[in-house]
Amino acid sequence: MANIKDYIPIAGESTIEDLQLIAGHLKGKVIQNVNSTSLGGGVAEILNRMVPLLRELGVDTHWDQIKGEEAFFEVTKKFHNALHGRPQEISKRDFNLFMDISNWNIKNMNTYGDIVFIHDPQPIALVKKRKKNKWLWRCHVDVSNPDRRVWRFLMNFILNYDSAVFSSPNFSRRLPIRQFLIPPSIDPLSDKNKELPQEVITSVLAKYNVPDDKPIVTQISRFDPLKDPIGVIEAYKLVKKYIDCTLVLAGGTASDDPEGVRVLEEVRKCAADDKDIHVLLLPHSDIEVNALQRASTVIVQKSLREGFGLTVAEALWKAKPVVASHTGGIPLQIKHKYSGLLCRSIEGAAFSIKQLLNSPRYAKRLGENGREHIKNNFLLTRHLRDYMLLFLSVYHKEDVVYL
Ligand code: UDP
Repeated sequence: MANIKDYIPIAGESTIEDLQLIAGHLKGKVIQNVNSTSLGGGVAEILNRMVPLLRELGVDTHWDQIKGEEAFFEVTKKFHNALHGRPQEISKRDFNLFMDISNWNIKNMNTYGDIVFIHDPQPIALVKKRKKNKWLWRCHVDVSNPDRRVWRFLMNFILNYDSAVFSSPNFSRRLPIRQFLIPPSIDPLSDKNKELPQEVITSVLAKYNVPDDKPIVTQISRFDPLKDPIGVIEAYKLVKKYIDCTLVLAGGTASDDPEGVRVLEEVRKCAADDKDIHVLLLPHSDIEVNALQRASTVIVQKSLREGFGLTVAEALWKAKPVVASHTGGIPLQIKHKYSGLLCRSIEGAAFSIKQLLNSPRYAKRLGENGREHIKNNFLLTRHLRDYMLLFLSVYHKEDVVYL
């Protein structure tokens, strides 16, 4: 694993010195992150790198997960979908089940942090345990147009936090507590994003029997209806009428996402009549995701809703041309026709994919601009700084933190 000094060639020496300086002000404070899974999805992806680097900087940072069984995660997935504006049937029983499991966690979990940093709605009720310590709620979801019932329910808890953190200005809500806007980030030196030798890329393609004799169009995501894998297949089929290409739909599972198995089945059925569509169920392997992204000619993220879309940042960091939906945090990353192409429909996605496959020079330019944009805005070093300033802010009454 990379050390903080390894980031100097990418982020610059002064950036790393700043981080060390800010970290010094957090000496003696214990930061406790809590979420619902250690593997799968963007939140775990970020914490896996954020926690060790904060510790290396001298910030006493911990990471715990709440416990929950499948029925609980069925409910929290319904909340997640409803917050993203997807109609869901949520019964009184579902809310009760959420509270039963939350109460179990409230009783059994130790919330020992000076700052308890709660990620997403699953562990939100833990704030009922609040004592004299500080509590932050980090919302990774696009809540620009949430289901009112679920949002009202969550508000009962949100009001008890010191501050809330959202990824994009569009997601902020009218709240009586302080709000911060902090977009997520990727780690340029992680196995997911570091440079790879061509042999590794070739061997991963060989492992999954993906030929590289044609352009490869790829979407890598959890198998989730909101990632619209079926829409990607339909877009690919429109492209395929004009350009011979291969489609890779790759994804793994997350222990807090029970929808994966059903969606994977649906995708497999939809892809069954075309041998150029490769539906890959990936193990948790960052190197494989990295290799598939690097092997791709065009990367797609056709989400119907998206919190931020780390996969977009990962692809752009690899200077890949990306076609992604104009939703959630994606437009923060892609400036249309400058650092990628934004789409709003299956036909729009197909048109953009075709354009990129037909114009390699244009595609290359978008990819290069995309890499620069990620470098300037969405690397872990910026995120570390934002989080440490956030932690310091809870000890200040004013909106400005003076160091
Ligand atoms: N990911 C992965 N393996 C998979 C599918 C996704 O490692 O099979 C990673 C992906 O590279 C990204 C994260 O999981 O780092 C997904 O984050 P994103 O913000 O794109 O979506 P989320 O799953 O949080 O909705």
